[in-house]
Amino acid sequence: MKTSTAFAPEHVVSTVCPLDCPDSCSLDVTVQSGRVTVVDGSTLNPVTDGYICAKVRRFPERVYGTDRLLYPAVRKGPKGAASFQRTTWEDAIALIAERLRSARDRWGGESILPYSYGGSNGLLTQDTSDATLFRRLGASRLARTVCAAPTGAANSALYGKMPSVVYEDYPEARLIVIWGANPSASGIHLVPYIREAQRRGARLVVVDPRTTALAKQADLHLAVRPGTDLPVALAIHRHLFETGGVDRAFLDAHTRGADRLREKAQAWTFERAAAEAGILPDRLRAFAELYAATSPALLRCGWGQERNRNGGNASLAILALPAVAGKFGVRGGGYTMSNSASWGIARTWIGAAEPSTRLVNMNHLGRALTEYADPPVQALFVYNSNAAVTSPDQRRILRGLERDDLFTVVFDQVMTDTARYADVLLPATTFLEGYDIARGYGPISLRLAKPVIEPVGEARSNADVFGDLLRRLDLDEPGDPDGELEEMLQVMSQLPRTIGKELSEQEAAVPPFGGRPIQFGNVHPLTADGKVDLFPESLDAEAPAGLYGYQPDPRTAEFPLTLISPASERTITSMLSELPRPEVKLLMHPDDAAERGLQDGGAVRVFNALGEVRCNVQVGASIRPGTVVLPKGLWRKHTANGYTATALAPDTLTDLGGGACFNDARVQVETWSDFS
Ligand code: SF4
Repeated sequence: MKTSTAFAPEHVVSTVCPLDCPDSCSLDVTVQSGRVTVVDGSTLNPVTDGYICAKVRRFPERVYGTDRLLYPAVRKGPKGAASFQRTTWEDAIALIAERLRSARDRWGGESILPYSYGGSNGLLTQDTSDATLFRRLGASRLARTVCAAPTGAANSALYGKMPSVVYEDYPEARLIVIWGANPSASGIHLVPYIREAQRRGARLVVVDPRTTALAKQADLHLAVRPGTDLPVALAIHRHLFETGGVDRAFLDAHTRGADRLREKAQAWTFERAAAEAGILPDRLRAFAELYAATSPALLRCGWGQERNRNGGNASLAILALPAVAGKFGVRGGGYTMSNSASWGIARTWIGAAEPSTRLVNMNHLGRALTEYADPPVQALFVYNSNAAVTSPDQRRILRGLERDDLFTVVFDQVMTDTARYADVLLPATTFLEGYDIARGYGPISLRLAKPVIEPVGEARSNADVFGDLLRRLDLDEPGDPDGELEEMLQVMSQLPRTIGKELSEQEAAVPPFGGRPIQFGNVHPLTADGKVDLFPESLDAEAPAGLYGYQPDPRTAEFPLTLISPASERTITSMLSELPRPEVKLLMHPDDAAERGLQDGGAVRVFNALGEVRCNVQVGASIRPGTVVLPKGLWRKHTANGYTATALAPDTLTDLGGGACFNDARVQVETWSDFS
């Protein structure tokens, strides 16, 4: 393994993309005179096969862009104004340490709130020395639930997060169901495998309120009303149970709770579920009959269906379908969910046990900053996250960030909307400037990311900065890693079985089952008894309406439209939103526009009791009536009044997993005549 960053004048460096995307592309990065000029795909990862998304092709614009943070700085103007004065690392670390120490001494450790998510999904950039620091400080803990918590809860309860079908096996399927996912925008490498399956005769069903690119090519598209995936899935279960579509031998041998699931599905006839979902009963029936009759059948469960009050139960019901219908045991049959747990990695390298301190759900950041009193949040440390635009109830979050008595550190790569509120701003390295271990959660891939260039400006790695803070706060202990390289070696040494050895010797590792799981073939449920738990009692009490219980649509006469904010092909959540993009518009169906007298391109206000977004409208039939769309990951500069879809999203939580209910935003839209 190289430990030097001495770079030749012009060369290509092989690395991997660790960003929050399922695919984990292998990359060839061209460097000239120490600067990245081209980021392209390499064929080292056969699944990603030499091409990458347009997002990461633009990564050099992020590395060298005008928004890049180049040195530490302290605030000199009002919060939110992005007015800062350069300082040294030494002074910045000293100031942060002093403020964290004084918050802990006066208010207790729980007055410190670390706030982070998957800016990079690599193993080194989260839950390493950062977690050690905040645990030893006795800080509040953060429930990282803004995404994937409901699907994670469902997948874990049903199957113990059994490894799921990888992209390479999609061509083996005779039926592919894409439910709540849009691989054309995120996880693009799945698309050619689906096309190959179609070429070989597979049928394609897409469940999505939008007419996505794949929905256009589908044999059946169910444009369900957001939040109604649960009754749709239960109606299919009902059909399977009622018509002998269940695999009784499989259910008896490998599952528990099938009868209780059947009871819950009983009420959901095609007619009732279709009425709730706003689709034709015949289309739902056609889907159920196709699924029952076709094998191998593959279900790609995404994350769109989880972002509402029923998201956990919906994911549970969807993921239970292959078990009830007996779709396992063959290549190209079963389901695909996140494969992040496939490596059996436990983060044993965190240098302190998890304390039993206050647990703050990250979707409640606004409440935590404005309402929590025992103790109040006095110090906020944001890294790997742009909370001002990515968490629900944006206005309340911004009110919290404006608090004069709140000490905020933002450690990031660019001047995000959150960074503008920092008291101390720290520049972070990008994945092209340091080490990481990238774990794909679509294709089962674990690869080493290496520094391609020296850190830009004075940017530093998470390991370096959190290590410095540990020392400055006298919280360091013997055995703590000293810097990024030591941290990486420590992590590698604690990876399971041969994985760490393979990674250090070959820069890539193969999982124990070889990377091509056949569910109920070479991989099995990782639940305690090895069975599929179709009615996990442990979750019953958590769900407000019980397991498989449906909570009706929250729309009102005043706010009748559903606002969704799906991932786009331009950003990874809000990352790369600093780059220029075409004007952002609200997408609305022609019927809804006509009802409101709105013209394509006209100025509108989208509003509810929580807030308002002003922008122009795009009228188009690629969204179902009654639902409007603003992209996920916008920055405040993208709308006329500086608010994004998160300003309209309630901070209520999903039925399972404590996830975000972005798609429970109910809004009204009207013309905004002042817009020029
Ligand atoms: S974001 Fe996804 S598709 Fe794009 S380069 Fe990274 S892994 Fe590949």
